[in-house]
Amino acid sequence: MPTSVVNITVHGIGPTSRTLDPGEENTWVSVGQFERALDAAVGRDDVRITFDDGNASDLEIGLPRLVERGLKAHFFVLAGEFGKPGRLDVDGVRELLRAGMSVGSHGWAHRDWRKLTDAEAEREIGEANRVIGEITGEPVKEVAIPFGSYDRVVLTRLRRAGMRLVYTSDGGRARTGQWLQARNSLRHDLDDAWVQQVFNGKASPIVQARRVVARRVKQLRGAS
Ligand SMILES: [Zn+2]
Repeated sequence: MPTSVVNITVHGIGPTSRTLDPGEENTWVSVGQFERALDAAVGRDDVRITFDDGNASDLEIGLPRLVERGLKAHFFVLAGEFGKPGRLDVDGVRELLRAGMSVGSHGWAHRDWRKLTDAEAEREIGEANRVIGEITGEPVKEVAIPFGSYDRVVLTRLRRAGMRLVYTSDGGRARTGQWLQARNSLRHDLDDAWVQQVFNGKASPIVQARRVVARRVKQLRGAS
């Protein structure tokens, strides 16, 4: 097993029927860009592919291209959005599972988890996990944090909920098996240079040091 992995995050691919949230177009990629990233992942046991937001394109565009290449991926879906325009429905999630993909939670309604009351957090984490766990047939143990937005309170809630793996959006490589897994989002301006940098690049010592400090700040910030 490799000692570190490159986690990739896919959001939306190709055309969509729903209105995008502000800024969401920055992480929306074309089919060609998506395929370029997948091709770079073939044969790499140190690359993990994840999908956020439960977009319909996960199933319509993502799944066949993963299967074609013999790749597996982790899908983090939104329990409160099933069946809405442009989103996965419950049958779609089942189809992902049947194809051997794993499914975890991205929450209920794509809220910023740093801005939740206890009751809201119960819905976003507890209730979402219950609904998704009923579909997958086993307790949800992996989550991807919406917007990669976390602090000490968020992490405490996730530990209490028994999460085994928590995906962020902190960038760079992640140590295998570490509780917090940094990820790298595909971007609308993805090109070969981006793929080369993320999949094979080694960040400069300065960038690496900045990432360590940024992660530490996020883990510690928040009301005591
Ligand atoms: Zn998201």
